[in-house]
Formats: sequence, C-alpha cells, structure tokens
Amino acid sequence: MFEPPEYLSPSSITTYRECPMKFKFSRIDRIVEPPTWHTHIGTFVHEVLEHFYQLDAEARTVEAVKAMATERWNTSEWEAQVTALEKPMGSIIDFKKTAFECMTNLWKIEDPQQTELINMEYELFTDVDGVRMKGYVDRFLYDDDDGKLIISDYKTGAIPNPKFKSEDEKYFQLLAYALMFESADQEETSKLQLLYLKHSANHEISVTPVKLAVARGVIVETKEAIDQACATEKFACNKTKLCDWCFHKSYCPAHQ
Ligand code: SF4
Repeated sequence: MFEPPEYLSPSSITTYRECPMKFKFSRIDRIVEPPTWHTHIGTFVHEVLEHFYQLDAEARTVEAVKAMATERWNTSEWEAQVTALEKPMGSIIDFKKTAFECMTNLWKIEDPQQTELINMEYELFTDVDGVRMKGYVDRFLYDDDDGKLIISDYKTGAIPNPKFKSEDEKYFQLLAYALMFESADQEETSKLQLLYLKHSANHEISVTPVKLAVARGVIVETKEAIDQACATEKFACNKTKLCDWCFHKSYCPAHQ
C-alpha cells in the first residue's frame, strides 16, 4: 500500500486525470523532472512580471520591464541555468527574444499602469470538501464591477486545441483556486483569466455555480480514485500519442 500525498494541488489532479501512472511517478515516487526550455521560459517570464508589478503604476513601462528582465537575468543567474539545459531549443539570444516577446505582449492584453493586483504567487493551503489542497495563484485582483476576485494565470505556451481540451479542463486549475479562495478566505470569484502571452490573448470566463460544482466534483472524485490506487498499488497507464512528450516514458511499464 502506498501512502497518498498529504495534499493535492490543482496541477497534480490534472496530472492524475491525464495519466495515473504519471501521477505515481511524480507524486508517489517523487521523480523530479528536469527543467526544459519551455518551463525555463515560463519561470523567467513569471519571475520578471512578479517583480515588475511591484513597481508603482506610473513606472510600469516597456522600458521598465526590459530593465527588470536584465536585473532578474543577472540576479537569478539565468544564463547559467539556460546553458545547463540538456536539450536547449536555441541560443541564449533566442531564449531572451522569446521571453521578452511574451513580456511585451502583456501591453496588447492589458494596460499595466491601470491594473492593480492584490497579490502574486500567492500560496493557498486549505480544504475543499474534505480534500487537503495546496497551490500557488499567479495573481489576483478585485473586479471593479462587483468587488469579487479575478484570478489570472500567465501562460507562455500554446493555446490548447479545443478538440483535445474541453473548456472545463482548460479552466479547471483556476476554478479549483476559486474554490480554495472560497474555503480559505470566504472570498468569491467572478472571473477567471488565462493570459496567453505568446499569442497576446486573454481568454476569460465568468465563474458560475455550475462550473464550481463541476470542479468540486472533479476534486473529490480524483481524491477518491488516488486513495483507491494507493491502497491497491494499481495506477493505470494512459498510453496515448502524448507519451512521446512524457519524461517517464523510458521506464514506464506501458512502453516496455
Ligand atoms: S509514458 Fe504515457 S503511459 Fe507512461 S507515464 Fe507517461 S503518459 Fe503515462
């Protein structure tokens, strides 16, 4: 029998639903995936924007984000981190160019001088219907219309194809955060935003009781399935074309 994880995160729930065996490798066996070109771009952009939004509103200009990127690049020794990647997908200049495009595309989505965030990289640790949950919200602000929360997530990757990802799946993590805010701080959420920086696109939905109920059901149902898999030590392999991108493929039983 395996010990179930002490808590679940919205992303670990998504991982279990995509492939239970992948969840086992990462959350039970604790095999840490090394960073990739894409995860490094995402982490660098998040880091710069987190510091950028701490500037006074009138200081939030394109020139300032460029200066902030240079400052964070040096402080966090990003050049060494990118150089150490096993499979770099370009040069240091390519990395900087892609990351900087993501940062400056922010101005095509919102006016940073008019956007007052309440918090960024905010830790939530709470119960949702008896399921212990932990996660980090990229950022949240108050909706001027109704005073409720708007939860946003920066994305530096591609916009998912609706053929392969339903709207409930696409917004699941943000809906889970809305439930966590409700449980931890009694704060209601009115909107969810996925900010696709690479594509200068803001995908936004209104939160409804039905959407929250669906996400709540997913959390509870997945926790039950994980507990059952841990008790029986049976984690199914979901073998699909996506396995080609899975870090665990070389030792996954589905591919032996
Ligand atoms: S290779 Fe495929 S089946 Fe195996 S853990 Fe990864 S996603 Fe799951």
